[in-house]
Amino acid sequence: MPATPTKYLLDESRLPRAWYNIQADLPQPLPPVLHPGTMQPITADDLAPLFPMSIIEQEVTTAREVEIPEPVREVFRLWRPAPLFRAHRLEKALGTPARIFYKYEGVSPAGSHKPNSAIPQAWFNAQAGVKRLTTETGAGQWGTSLALAGQTFGLDVTIFQVRVSYDQKPYRRAVMETYGARCVASPSAETEYGRRVLAERPDHPGSLGIAISEAVEMAARRDDTKYALGSVLNHVLLHQTIIGLEAMEQMQMADAWPDVVVGCTGGGSNFAGLAFPFIGHGLRGGSRPRVLAVEPAACPSLTRGKYAYDFGDTAHLTPLTKMHTLGSTFTPPGFHAGGLRYHGMAPLVSHVKELGLLDAVAYTQGECFAAGVQFARAEGIVPAPEANHAVKGAIEEALRCKREGRAETILFCLSGHGHFDMAAYQAYFAGQLKDEKYDEGELAQALSGLPAVTG
Ligand SMILES: *Cc1c(COP(=O)(O)O)cnc(C)c1O
Repeated sequence: MPATPTKYLLDESRLPRAWYNIQADLPQPLPPVLHPGTMQPITADDLAPLFPMSIIEQEVTTAREVEIPEPVREVFRLWRPAPLFRAHRLEKALGTPARIFYKYEGVSPAGSHKPNSAIPQAWFNAQAGVKRLTTETGAGQWGTSLALAGQTFGLDVTIFQVRVSYDQKPYRRAVMETYGARCVASPSAETEYGRRVLAERPDHPGSLGIAISEAVEMAARRDDTKYALGSVLNHVLLHQTIIGLEAMEQMQMADAWPDVVVGCTGGGSNFAGLAFPFIGHGLRGGSRPRVLAVEPAACPSLTRGKYAYDFGDTAHLTPLTKMHTLGSTFTPPGFHAGGLRYHGMAPLVSHVKELGLLDAVAYTQGECFAAGVQFARAEGIVPAPEANHAVKGAIEEALRCKREGRAETILFCLSGHGHFDMAAYQAYFAGQLKDEKYDEGELAQALSGLPAVTG
């Protein structure tokens, strides 16, 4: 009998031609996005200072398919279709009857799934005549991806990088600068909001919420400048569905179909990218896998947050969206999966959870690093700290299968490699990783300060 393959590769000609929009298949529509001033549903014109019309259309469309422009597909061919692996050696190490598959997104030039949205966002902006993009970055993954995308399509990119990460991750900044982007430590003196924060506290370490406020303010001020966000929004999740669309074909190549789909959730984009095509298949009458979102215990928006209208940023410049949130003033304790340190969850992921179509669990970073090290020793790839959460979720499912004697099929998203995060692994091996709890009092206070929305 031939050995079952380890790797499932799609030919370039199988690169998807359209993204999948789950809004077409949902039994109930997404709650409206509200204007922060009037509390009325926002219009396309309200968003026009920040995004080109083509992206605003993708944000609101309920069409099932949105075509991927050919110039975007051409760039994707640098690393897509991305490989699907069968984790034979991990299965053996766990002694599980389960079959474990993972879709590997670390093969992109930036080392994560984020260019899947950065490339089309830059292209649609360039098509609309935009000259410059602003954005924020925490761990540096999104900034790197947008820097790459801006360079590809001839746009200037200004990145507000959270101050602690700017100081602690000089290599990330070097990559962004290699791609031609300009990095600014946030809070900065370049925006009104940044200056206000610095006046109160000159040594402020920054946060994702503050960096978003600065990037939005700068984009809103200039006609030739727009803003790009790396997760959370509907169009970002739409772009990421290329992950799941490829994986569906690859699972068929493997003559398998997932019983469980697992992903880590920061803002929700890689998770939705893998899971939504499978959920949609189920909503249209196909078999629907159990879907599991894994989040950090120190920033647990899906498992501990409130499903309510909230702002996306700290200065309250963004529209209000209904989502699982810890409150826009909540500051999670420091931990190494910087890409998961956001107070809110994508409105679409939140809505799908409310509809009962997905489950969520939270794990500490210590547990997740242990899982990541076990994975690296079996499969050879060192996962990003964020991706360790998905690895942990998949391993727990495989161990459940072992206890229950069930040969289920598990599919998870390995969202990126950890080559820029080795200091975190070093800390783990030195026994210096702390599992800091968030402050319950601060969470309660942040939740009590949620904006009042009636109706
Ligand atoms: C940014 C990032 C995440 C978290 O973002 P999502 O939008 O939730 O996918 C996860 N993994 C990696 C490798 C990242 O860079």
